[in-house]
Amino acid sequence: MTSSSKFDYDLSGIDRIDGIPTVGQTLTFQRQLATIQTSYTCKYEHAGAHGWSWIMCDDAHWLAKRGITTLVATPTEPGPYTGTTHTHKFKYQLDVKNYDEYKEHLRNSLKAFSTCFTEGLFIDLETDGQIIGYSPMQIYTHIKTNFLLPRDISREITKTRSDLKVAYNPDDIVQIYYKSIQTSKLTLAALGDPITEVEIMRCAFETFEVQSDLKEACREWDRQAAPPTWARMMVHFSIEIQRNRTDPSKLKLQGEANAVLKQVEQQEEKQRLQSECMVAQTDTINRLQEQLTAVQYEQQANGAASVNGSLPGRIPASISTGLTQESMEAMFKKWTATQAAGAPATDRMTGKERKKKKFGVNFIENDLPNAERSKRRYPNSTNYCSSHGYDISPDHDSSNCKKRNANHNEAATITNMLGGVTTNCFHHNA
Ligand SMILES: [Zn+2]
Repeated sequence: MTSSSKFDYDLSGIDRIDGIPTVGQTLTFQRQLATIQTSYTCKYEHAGAHGWSWIMCDDAHWLAKRGITTLVATPTEPGPYTGTTHTHKFKYQLDVKNYDEYKEHLRNSLKAFSTCFTEGLFIDLETDGQIIGYSPMQIYTHIKTNFLLPRDISREITKTRSDLKVAYNPDDIVQIYYKSIQTSKLTLAALGDPITEVEIMRCAFETFEVQSDLKEACREWDRQAAPPTWARMMVHFSIEIQRNRTDPSKLKLQGEANAVLKQVEQQEEKQRLQSECMVAQTDTINRLQEQLTAVQYEQQANGAASVNGSLPGRIPASISTGLTQESMEAMFKKWTATQAAGAPATDRMTGKERKKKKFGVNFIENDLPNAERSKRRYPNSTNYCSSHGYDISPDHDSSNCKKRNANHNEAATITNMLGGVTTNCFHHNA
């Protein structure tokens, strides 16, 4: 009728079991399937907070669940509608919806069985390769009676009963202890050997009794008049344990412990930073060595191709071997020096400075306007340049000038200037 209730279980949370299952695997399967079924809300009476997991429980197992005191009646097909009022109609529609959901959960549960157990395990129950007409619980019982050895079951029961006596660890919240008791209780019920509430309370009391800070709580529990229940016992000891945790006298000890813990944490942080720093240093050294290797490689290649072994910019071979920090520093200094020496020094000098450097203290400056001078710089030279005039270097004339004007004439001389400049020409024949 309604297709909106159609859904599939997510079976990824269920372990696949190969071959004949063990007791432990069977219990695990039941627990995993029950977890999925619990996550769906069930509207049937007495299902409580446990959703549809009643499908996978026999009576004892179901009644062992927390807050459960009554069995869920097996749903029946609502049949054809026979009501006459709106209320009837509404209830009928609800019944149909619930029943559809029930069928859906049965279908999904059977699918879980055939997905997780080895094919052929249910061959006795199959019709035309399908498990038809059996409830999940009947299939589960089939597995238990056909494949699980009674000896294994009784061994599992013994083990689970000893788990019940597992001591409460004061470092954990007490709910973890309660949960392990609850798990053992459910397992024992599933194994067909349910444990009574009185037995559980005895186990828990023996555990709490040996805790020094719960002595008072144990005495108080013994003194109470009302008949003890496991539910009330859990609350009683939860409160006592919480009270101990906020007790100032115990907190003082806790505070000291925390201070020590903080110191340890700070120390750890320091060490972490130090090691991070070392890692960074190592990285840098590694990177430098890589670069150095590349440079060396290039150097070898240059050396092979060149006759002259001292090309500018190259690292002197003498320091490029033996990798210590000192040698790398020295290499770097020498390399920068080589770079500086190789670069044209004139770039950073003015023309005047350049000439001073060339002529020393006897340098004759252009003391007159228009780049002319009163004293000759080259008294013995009679050369003339179309672009530079008279009193120039004896190596320099119109024919070989390296910095010519636009109107430069190569044939120009001091006696036939041909329109060239007259700079310093007044020195001629003066
Ligand atoms: Zn010239």
